[in-house]
Amino acid sequence: MGLTREILLKGSKSKWLSRQLTGRRFTQRAVQRFLPGEDLDSALHAAAALGERGIPTILTLLGEDVSDGEVAEGVAAHFLQTLDRVSERGLDADISLKPTHLGLDLDLDGTYTRMKRLAERAGALGRTVAIDMEDSSYVDRTLDLYRRLRAEHPNVAVCLQAYLHRTARDIEDLAPLAPVIRLVKGAYTEPRDIAFRRRRDMDAAFLEHADTLLRKVGEGGGLRVLFGTHDPKMIEAVQARAAELGLPRNAFEIQLLFGIQRQLQLKLADEGYRVRVLISYGDSWFPWYMRRLAERPANIWFLLRNLFGE
Ligand SMILES: Cc1cc2nc3c(=O)[nH]c(=O)nc-3n(C[C@H](O)[C@H](O)[C@H](O)COP(=O)(O)OP(=O)(O)OC[C@H]3O[C@@H](n4cnc5c(N)ncnc54)[C@H](O)[C@@H]3O)c2cc1C
Repeated sequence: MGLTREILLKGSKSKWLSRQLTGRRFTQRAVQRFLPGEDLDSALHAAAALGERGIPTILTLLGEDVSDGEVAEGVAAHFLQTLDRVSERGLDADISLKPTHLGLDLDLDGTYTRMKRLAERAGALGRTVAIDMEDSSYVDRTLDLYRRLRAEHPNVAVCLQAYLHRTARDIEDLAPLAPVIRLVKGAYTEPRDIAFRRRRDMDAAFLEHADTLLRKVGEGGGLRVLFGTHDPKMIEAVQARAAELGLPRNAFEIQLLFGIQRQLQLKLADEGYRVRVLISYGDSWFPWYMRRLAERPANIWFLLRNLFGE
């Protein structure tokens, strides 16, 4: 793993750095590239604009590591409101959330109850709830939550990270549930005994799992796959493999983050692929933004240009 990436990922956990940077105008300007705004209205506005270009969306309120039950209840209430607002405006927008934002550090059962409430409301409104995957210490509990939710709610998706050595096994274990799986490379810093750290190893693992997942889609057991990546090489390889397997363009979905590879988003939609853009909003953007910088250190220059323009 590159030194810059490692430093940025360590920095993402620093409360001190967060305090130093979040109030500064230059950071706020740089963040706007990936974040349409801090409130739900800004996110809904961005979702409507993308919808007009034929691109559906996923909305996520930023936040993680909640250690207070009342706060976790408030987060769940916010996501319920988001689902209602999406429905009122007639948008094609799902929601995505982090288990620790809903209180996973406090208790598994409470988190399950909150997520179940969201899955029920989303189901009634024809929407999907996606569960993000956080660092490796949460994978077992997150998959546990997913299994319990999936038993009653088909409209729940879970993210798996290609860089973890365990992922091939997790795919096989989940497959009989007819799951909805979002495959990503993985955004956290993990020890080398459990995860690939070199980019080319992560890419190879991503392609291997993509192949397995597409074959399972073709077998017709009900598994659905979503690929969360901005990497043109991964996207082209997925498209080529799906075509070789005789799968139609709408047999899988490509998901990208708001503000990243905008031209590619439009091109994929124009070519008839299913694309969905994940829009993040909220004021707890610091660790999330640092993970975005770690993925593409070239964006640090963008941040610095805003500093000099201040
Ligand atoms: C919809 C979605 C959901 C996600 N959910 C999770 C999750 O739940 N858990 C988790 O751990 N991770 C999640 N991630 C993050 C993911 O794990 C990766 O860290 C992130 O997507 C970067 O990897 P990549 O495949 O996009 O490409 P990288 O390997 O970072 O980059 C490869 C190439 O992609 C292009 N590219 C990448 N980033 C940019 C950019 N910012 N601007 C322009 N081009 C770029 C460039 O051509 C680059 O060379 C999610 C990502 C997406 C898109």
